[in-house]
Amino acid sequence: MCVAYYLVKAGLRTLNIDQGYITAGTSGAGNGNIIVGNRQPGLLAELARRSLLEYERMGNGEMGDFELERNGSYLLLETEAQAEEARQLIARQEGRGLSLAYLSAGELAEAVPGVSAKLAGAVYCRDDCSLNPLLFLRALRRRIQDHGGGFAFYEKVGKIQRTPSGLFCVYTGAGTYRSPVVVDCAGVQARPIASLLGEQVPVAPNKGHIVVTEKVPHLRIPAKLRDWADASDSQEGEPVNTVIESTAAGNLLIGKSEAGTESSASVSLPTVRAILDRALRFLPCLREVKVIRIYTGLRPRSGDGLPIIGASAITAGLYYACGHGGDGVSSAPETGRLLSRRIAEGRSERIMREFAPARFIKP
Ligand SMILES: Cc1cc2nc3c(=O)[nH]c(=O)nc-3n(C[C@H](O)[C@H](O)[C@H](O)COP(=O)(O)OP(=O)(O)OC[C@H]3O[C@@H](n4cnc5c(N)ncnc54)[C@H](O)[C@@H]3O)c2cc1C
Repeated sequence: MCVAYYLVKAGLRTLNIDQGYITAGTSGAGNGNIIVGNRQPGLLAELARRSLLEYERMGNGEMGDFELERNGSYLLLETEAQAEEARQLIARQEGRGLSLAYLSAGELAEAVPGVSAKLAGAVYCRDDCSLNPLLFLRALRRRIQDHGGGFAFYEKVGKIQRTPSGLFCVYTGAGTYRSPVVVDCAGVQARPIASLLGEQVPVAPNKGHIVVTEKVPHLRIPAKLRDWADASDSQEGEPVNTVIESTAAGNLLIGKSEAGTESSASVSLPTVRAILDRALRFLPCLREVKVIRIYTGLRPRSGDGLPIIGASAITAGLYYACGHGGDGVSSAPETGRLLSRRIAEGRSERIMREFAPARFIKP
């Protein structure tokens, strides 16, 4: 959707073809966290930093309210070894424009009521934000339509061919669409779409669970609580680590799991138990809160964990914007801006080299 948004703003005509509605894919089934203060600064953090500037521009009037909140996050530290790693990270980040601060256990307890007294401390990442993905998708759709962009919903792309004049013919059950440019931004389906044109793009699903609680206004979490540790194997379920956040409506969202190349969206109860057990280590008062819903989504993960953004090195006119894994919300606007510049003006910014499809799909 962000690619279409920047293309229509550049004056091009677009048609978003989707087998469902705007919320049919992973973007309608994830959290809306924009994570800038990562443990490993690098390309993803840079995409997130640039995207945040775009989100703020859009949120300042152009798009209307999509619950963009610069609420920051706390990376929770369980051990003295993690606390030492955290202090070293903060020292390395100094002067790089990221706002990270170390909190002792006492300072954390003051900032986040109810947090476990056993924690060693936290890193506060002031720049991390969140938004409501559903409201953002709706706002994007409106803006794309305002600029003359079209949508074909509930149409599944089943075949793509080139005409002798070089146009693509995109076939769905309901229609045939001709265009000199096709962008494969089909999320976990990016691979089968690319294969319609004979290209092999390594994007595989990685399942995540989110637990939703009842509304608990008395337990409002001032900033997202995130695990310092990587997702690690739970006893019975899938690898999990913790993210806890309050929604604007007062519910808590508790995640998250990361399952290999799982392609079914089914709920695993052992995994849900592992998510909740881990979250309780950080926030014991959750024991009193009722769960009302559990949902899953499939992250579109690329072969090397970085998104695939740019022109095909084989098929002229074919572009990719896929493989964003668990960072698609954090990096969507900058992905759209970079790719639309490449398509509309033929200009590739330096950072795009790192995301080039040619690292996987070679002529
Ligand atoms: C549990 C969970 C939590 C997450 N939390 C965060 C977070 O906090 N922050 C963050 O940055 N990221 C997060 N993510 C990741 C983020 O949601 C994804 O990276 C992002 O949504 C991927 O967007 P996409 O546009 O590539 O794919 P999608 O949103 O899946 O869009 C692809 C679209 O292509 C359509 N499509 C597929 N095949 C066809 C076809 N043949 N014909 C027509 N249409 C087709 C689909 O219907 C879909 O609408 C999370 C993911 C999960 C699962």
